[in-house]
Amino acid sequence: MRSIDLRSDTVTKPTKEMLEAMFAAEVGDDVFGDDPTVNALEEKAAAQFGMEAALFCTSGTLTNQLAIRVHTRPGNDVICDKLSHIYLYEGGGIALNSLSSVKLLDGDKGRISANQVRDSINNPDDVHAPVSRLVSLENTMNKGGGCYYQFSEIEAIKEVCQGHGLALHLDGARLFNALVETGESTLQFGNVFDSISICLSKGLGCPVGSLLLGSKSFIKQARRFRKAMGGGWRQAGFLAAAGIYALDHHILRLREDHARARAIGQMLTHLPEVEEIYPIDTNIVIFRLPETILATDYVAQLGQKGVRAVTFGKHLVRFVTHLDFTDNDLEDLKKRL
Ligand SMILES: *Cc1c(COP(=O)(O)O)cnc(C)c1O
Repeated sequence: MRSIDLRSDTVTKPTKEMLEAMFAAEVGDDVFGDDPTVNALEEKAAAQFGMEAALFCTSGTLTNQLAIRVHTRPGNDVICDKLSHIYLYEGGGIALNSLSSVKLLDGDKGRISANQVRDSINNPDDVHAPVSRLVSLENTMNKGGGCYYQFSEIEAIKEVCQGHGLALHLDGARLFNALVETGESTLQFGNVFDSISICLSKGLGCPVGSLLLGSKSFIKQARRFRKAMGGGWRQAGFLAAAGIYALDHHILRLREDHARARAIGQMLTHLPEVEEIYPIDTNIVIFRLPETILATDYVAQLGQKGVRAVTFGKHLVRFVTHLDFTDNDLEDLKKRL
């Protein structure tokens, strides 16, 4: 039985066309700065967002952590929602890499408000409190079931940041999933954030890779830290070629993933063991089981039926749709659930 893998949108394999683009890539040595395909990807992404520069990296964890490292100084406070990937899923990297502490806010499914941010900023003259320095948002919000921000709220948060000298970072691992739903533009996002992290390895279907976007001086510092952390790479152009291909061909099709996620939501409404389904705004489906069923047991049972998923809490399960999850798989899934 072919397994249906809904653990994450990172599980996709490159398409034939993407592989051809990778094989055809002209490469150099990116640590020397002369890999033409890496440079082309970085220039393309920076232009797309109207930002000065970009840095191609191995992972979204690396791009987020580099951003936090450049924006903060030891002892600073990073303000984010309590469900943020940067806090929950990056190995304690904020403390480990940046020696900063975190102010966790209790937002609406991971989305914080301008008022919450304003109330969480410490008085810079009070020696008891860490110096607030950075606000980090996540869009779409993974732990919030793939929900996204109202752009007006982001603008209001930006205003608060500007008023208090705080930097604003976006963990945009799945930003394009939000953009294809809202019709907002990359330029709008580039205009409002000081730095943005984008994953190419998620819905966009690349085997590896993330981009960090920011000003020239910001990216120059991030490039130095990336090297110090062992993240400088050589003929990375083979991977960058996949990124260029994905930015050209795999953005609009994200809408198909969203339609399939909604179709899964419909299936789940018929299952007696499903107590709650989070609103399905993009490609993530999170559902809640009763107190009597552990998510670990449920996911193991799904595995025996050839359906792979992850637990997202004691009684929460997550499915993520992606490029390799087809309409045929959707039909099969209906029989297996
Ligand atoms: C996947 C993801 C990342 C980055 O993960 P990597 O596996 O390190 O590439 C960052 N933020 C969010 C919200 C994610 O879902």
